[in-house]
Amino acid sequence: MPIRRLAPETVNRIAAGEVIERPAAAVKELVENALDAGARRIAVAIAGGGIARIEVTDDGNGIPEIELALAIERHATSKLADEALIRIATLGFRGEALPSIGAAARLTLISRPRGQDVAARITVAGGAVGEVAPVAAPFGTRAIVEDLFYATPARRKFLRSTAAETAACVEAVRHLALAAPEVAFALSIDGVVSFDLPAQDRRARVAALYGRGEMDALLPIQAVREGVALSGFIGPASLTRATARHQNFVVNGRPVRDPLLRMALRIAYREVIPQGRHPVAALWLDLGHDRLDVNVHPAKAELRFAEPDGVRSLVIGAIQRALAAPADLAQAPALRLAPRGPAPSWSYAAAPAQQAHGFAEAEIGFGLDLKPVMRRQELPEEPSEYPLGAPIGQILDTYILALAGDGSLVLVDQHAAHERLTEERLRAERDAGGIARQGLLAPVPVDLPADDAARLLGSASALAELGLDIEGFGPGAVLIRAIPAALGPADPAGLLRDIADTMAESGEATALSARLDAVLARMACHRSIRAGRRLEIAEMAALLRQMEATPRAQTCPHGRPTVLKLTRGDLERMFGRAG
Ligand code: ADP
Ligand code: MG
Repeated sequence: MPIRRLAPETVNRIAAGEVIERPAAAVKELVENALDAGARRIAVAIAGGGIARIEVTDDGNGIPEIELALAIERHATSKLADEALIRIATLGFRGEALPSIGAAARLTLISRPRGQDVAARITVAGGAVGEVAPVAAPFGTRAIVEDLFYATPARRKFLRSTAAETAACVEAVRHLALAAPEVAFALSIDGVVSFDLPAQDRRARVAALYGRGEMDALLPIQAVREGVALSGFIGPASLTRATARHQNFVVNGRPVRDPLLRMALRIAYREVIPQGRHPVAALWLDLGHDRLDVNVHPAKAELRFAEPDGVRSLVIGAIQRALAAPADLAQAPALRLAPRGPAPSWSYAAAPAQQAHGFAEAEIGFGLDLKPVMRRQELPEEPSEYPLGAPIGQILDTYILALAGDGSLVLVDQHAAHERLTEERLRAERDAGGIARQGLLAPVPVDLPADDAARLLGSASALAELGLDIEGFGPGAVLIRAIPAALGPADPAGLLRDIADTMAESGEATALSARLDAVLARMACHRSIRAGRRLEIAEMAALLRQMEATPRAQTCPHGRPTVLKLTRGDLERMFGRAG
């Protein structure tokens, strides 16, 4: 389709706004143009944070010489067949990017469509358009942006450091490369190749961009509901990052940073990863173009879904199902014996003179006083066939030590593990229609700050659904009549105070269902086997068997691991027996 000017009515319907706020935005627009042109290979070169120079070269359709001048005119596009803006299949559609870049920088387009003998070149600098001139170049298009924002100094002031702008450019290219794995992508930064990827399938592209080591741990996701298809890869709960950098969404081929999708990811992982950590995910959503409004954000980074609730629950549900696979030894993080951080779980103390030789007369202690640190059981006669193995002892009255059939040593944090088991039981009961309660023989009155009491009583009916029956008992007091049966013998007053704190902390702004989830987790924590309690071998075995049968058992409700393993391979590596 030739480039043409959009009708004024269409222009008015287009989400207006500045497209080019920083170099990464220019990079994104230029690469999107290359993708829209059907390129099979795209090369991006960035220098000086993208402020000095951006160059995007593609082997796509090219722009006919007679259309070059129109390409840099505002609201001229070859893409918008549907002026109702409903079925938009291309990444671009507004005809705004090139003129915006040309107004702020020096933009050169060199293009040669198939069938055209020579390429043609046009330059626009600070909005001043030059002549079209012939030039030798291969098929495809090269866009060169120099001195970005030289013509708009006010904008330049808002730029961050060159390093930060470079990083943003790299993120933009990575995200686009993920969105189009079937296109070969190369990126170079200040003359150094950052990556150079052939056409790949999704899995290989994710591996190339996220790191092969991570990729091996990722869980595939696949779900379809009501015409919306979700696929991709997510990290297990044990694999988290300090930032959201390894979270990418692609909707109908568009790389997006949509708040709804980010929030769905957060909710799906909320209870299995520690606060402040970020899950890893590369997710693709595909749905009918008419069920998606891409015309809501000038940089097209956000979308509007026709059925946002359906999309949200599809994403959350699919992720939670993938994470809920029963405890899998392969997913337990490898045990590391090297002390990390200031508080090693064991210490190795050698006299200074002997440190050079290492072990002579070294003492190995557990960094705690000398109470019995390990209780040993008889070794099992038969290798255990269970993934988490047979218990062989308890360390520090806190960790269960087990031996798996393949010789792996397994360590389980008894409190964290039990907390998860209780939580899952409460959750299953709730989902099956109601949490079983036990009435207290003598109802327990609890004094509380007035606002806490009011908050609890205001949610009394919701709490009753969680198996907690309370009623008012004069000003600032609450009477507990029943608690969830799964909690066994518990301290009801302490439980209620904890719940009051939880509800205060999650705040009025949090949806009730989220606050009740937090309450449920709090209940589970309350009941669970404390660290420091001595366990019988049968109790340990029961805990391990329950873990194997329970979803999400590899982490506690706060996201800490419940189980660590040390495989034969780990031992061999640590003892230098294997490379
Ligand atoms: P839009 O992408 O919204 O149409 P742009 O300003 O980004 O607007 O581009 C204007 C027009 O220039 C496009 O519609 C397209 O016809 C043409 N164009 C831009 N970049 C390329 C490219 N790399 N290959 C082929 N055509 C291009
Ligand atoms: Mg465009």
